[in-house]
Amino acid sequence: MHVPLINLRRLYEDLKPDIDAAIGSVLNSGRFILGDVVAQLEQTLAHYVGTSYALGVASGTDALLLALRVIGVGQGDFVITTTFTFFATPEVIIRLGATPIFVDIEPQTYNMDPEHLDIVIKHLPPSVRSRLKAIIPVHLYGQSADMDEIMGIATKYGVPVVEDLAQALGAEYKGKKVGSFGLLGGVSFFPTKNLPAFGDAGMIFTDDSTLYEKIKTYRIHGATKKYYYPDWGYNSRLDAIQAAILSVNFKHLEEWNERRKAIAAKYDAKLHGVVETPAKKHDRTHIYHQYTIRTPERDNLRKFLQEKGIETAIHYPIPCHLQPALSYLGYRGGDLPVSEKVSKEVLSLPIFQYLSEDEVDYVIDTIIGFFR
Ligand SMILES: *Cc1c(COP(=O)(O)O)cnc(C)c1O
Repeated sequence: MHVPLINLRRLYEDLKPDIDAAIGSVLNSGRFILGDVVAQLEQTLAHYVGTSYALGVASGTDALLLALRVIGVGQGDFVITTTFTFFATPEVIIRLGATPIFVDIEPQTYNMDPEHLDIVIKHLPPSVRSRLKAIIPVHLYGQSADMDEIMGIATKYGVPVVEDLAQALGAEYKGKKVGSFGLLGGVSFFPTKNLPAFGDAGMIFTDDSTLYEKIKTYRIHGATKKYYYPDWGYNSRLDAIQAAILSVNFKHLEEWNERRKAIAAKYDAKLHGVVETPAKKHDRTHIYHQYTIRTPERDNLRKFLQEKGIETAIHYPIPCHLQPALSYLGYRGGDLPVSEKVSKEVLSLPIFQYLSEDEVDYVIDTIIGFFR
């Protein structure tokens, strides 16, 4: 048996008539950039996440980039984030001329450790502290970071929060959806994410009308009226064909997240005690963008699964603070020990809405077989 990490052909085959019709209607409209389809999707998703506004942009990366830009992050500033994230999170900080400061993670949830966050801010030299412009928690693998703690610390120091919910659309913390806690939030619709586009796409969420108006101009080069630029911006729009596809897929998001949870529950029940299964917290939901186990046998297990036809992935093999591109920051091995240890032990198993029961059973049996 071959078990893929994800197979979007299965999604297209299932929803083909609706998706083809949605694409066809955009082609017939002749309007390909922004327009009604995008505006409609923005409204739908703002309502879903629980914010006043949402803005479609070209990718999840751009969602974070524009969010930081509109709150004034620039040359010489500092932004705190977790080191255990996809590289796009620190990358947008650097692209604005600012410097990322990394925080370690909680060993169970793999999310930003609030205690460490507090210590890091407390020990910043005054010259850095005064230029700390944002904190970016990442809701890794589809589970919310500890938002009460993080928002409390951010408020204490007067620093805005920008949420990276690229992996967690629909996840809740104390009954409230992620993306509605921070001043701004950015989501990705990259094809492998929980709500997939069939190309690159992203969205920004906020309750702040001033920031909303600003982002609207920044995604069209900074123009406040046609060919008039008080400030430079970006070419970053959610295109209408992707918005049409997303509108179809969004109707299934809740059902898909439930299916992921059901697969995760099966993995939990059978693999608990064999490997370290994802931590569950009573105050938040996990939508399992990834189902990531942990074992010191990671590399051997991965090889074994590959030989048995099971695809797996490592999210992430090198924490951001040790990436070669960021060596100029001066971090060394041992600086953020939890992330460094976890990066050697995590393994993401196949989990997506169209995985069959037989495939799930095969993954479980093969893992149990490896440890027997
Ligand atoms: C996918 C992802 C991004 C970037 O999203 P793109 O749409 O690929 O640009 C940013 N942060 C995290 C945590 C992600 O998983």
